[in-house]
Amino acid sequence: MTASTSTKSHSQHPKPRTLGELKGIPDFDAGSVSRSVKDEIRGNLLRLIERGEPLFPGIHGYEDTVVPQIVNALLSRHNFILLGLRGQAKSRILRGLINLLDAEIPVVVGCEINDDPLKPICRACREKIAAEGDNTPIAWMPRDSRYVEKLATPDVTMADIIGDVDPIRAARGGRDLSDELTIHYGLLPRANRGIFGINELPDLTGKIQVGLFNIMQEGDIQIKGYPLRLPLDVLLVFTANPEDYTARGKIITPLKDRIGAEIRTHYPASIEEGMTITAQEAWVGRDSGKKIDVPHYLRQVVEEIAFQAREDKRVDKRSGVSQRLPITTLESLVSSAEQRAARNGEKAVVARVADVYAALPAITGKMELEYEGELKGADTIARELIRTAVGRVFSKHFTDINFQPVIQWFELGGELKLPELANTMERHQQLSKIQGLMEHIGKLGVPDRKDAGAAAAAAEMILEGLWAHRRIGRSEERGYYAEKPKQPDQRERETPGRPPRRQFN
Ligand SMILES: [Zn+2]
Repeated sequence: MTASTSTKSHSQHPKPRTLGELKGIPDFDAGSVSRSVKDEIRGNLLRLIERGEPLFPGIHGYEDTVVPQIVNALLSRHNFILLGLRGQAKSRILRGLINLLDAEIPVVVGCEINDDPLKPICRACREKIAAEGDNTPIAWMPRDSRYVEKLATPDVTMADIIGDVDPIRAARGGRDLSDELTIHYGLLPRANRGIFGINELPDLTGKIQVGLFNIMQEGDIQIKGYPLRLPLDVLLVFTANPEDYTARGKIITPLKDRIGAEIRTHYPASIEEGMTITAQEAWVGRDSGKKIDVPHYLRQVVEEIAFQAREDKRVDKRSGVSQRLPITTLESLVSSAEQRAARNGEKAVVARVADVYAALPAITGKMELEYEGELKGADTIARELIRTAVGRVFSKHFTDINFQPVIQWFELGGELKLPELANTMERHQQLSKIQGLMEHIGKLGVPDRKDAGAAAAAAEMILEGLWAHRRIGRSEERGYYAEKPKQPDQRERETPGRPPRRQFN
């Protein structure tokens, strides 16, 4: 039964509640009701493609790479594995497969493995249908109940995945332990007629992998040494880190052979794609009644930090830098602005570059550092990443701008130290005193110099950009000041990649 026909028939007829009523549906087609989950997904997928509907809503940046490969795997009725670093939406894609299932399917009431009333595989259901015939009650299982997920760890047992003999049930029913009716089913049989996702597949022990292979191969399972034939109908999908997966001995070869497709995921290819994902996932619409505006250039900085981290040699490439880094950084940045607004009693506030630094705790925990990075410390690395990111975003917005007047203002002895909790008006006033600075905020999307919050934040971004490019100096004690003429030895100490000598705020 397809998603469309089941909805149609249900709006016109009461939903069948027994096997007899099910067979009595006017357009009843046993073959369609009893098709395998892979055929069901195939059919629904083809229809979505033909209609031009989105296949994986909420997944961005995979339209031309990952999605077509998943589609091919599903059309081929293959089990597949997503190989990728953390934070590449692998689990999310697997969960999204639910949308390719029928809205609901009929199952035998009370069956632990969701038996098809027309084709039951468990003994309890076969006995029940033999006894009750067309009066056998059926239930309708919604598609979101048809996805079962397990994070693989070395301590996952056969009992967890396949099942175990339940001695209590055996005693109660007066059954032999080898009787099928005494089985307590594991996750995989419970995913029957649905999708079973295993995250981090290489972490499963070899023994469990053999068990999985036997299911995929023959539908045979063994519980406590008792062979049992249970031809389960399951789409198996997996995720793994590519290095774990390709490492010798981590995955038994016969299991690998039965996985139809290995599909590589990736991080966003462009800052814009990353920003789309981050904007979708981050919690920025706060309920405090305060208006917190995050300028576009700061969103670019946040995303650029992740891009820089992914390229940085001091950050471990094997574990990657999750998309959760920019997501939590953006959330933390918003909170920093929110906190300032609350302290200053302001109703509306614009996030500033200092709020990115306030989000350091959201950055440091999300990078695994190489030895060289460990020596420097996560905090220093994160500050350097922010500085580089600011510099990149600054360069994008200001290609041919002459900032000499601004730099000169500092060289003539000007210094600017903004107190951490200065309110918007105070900051705007102070920044407006710097000659030539406010002239350029239009390039950052701020048309009105009198718009204090936006103008002050943009002006501060310019100063931070000049500092990132070493055109002016900055320290915690003094704020922004003129960069002294560089001595040769000093230049050596300030080569890019070195930590800033002093910290911001
Ligand atoms: Zn059953």
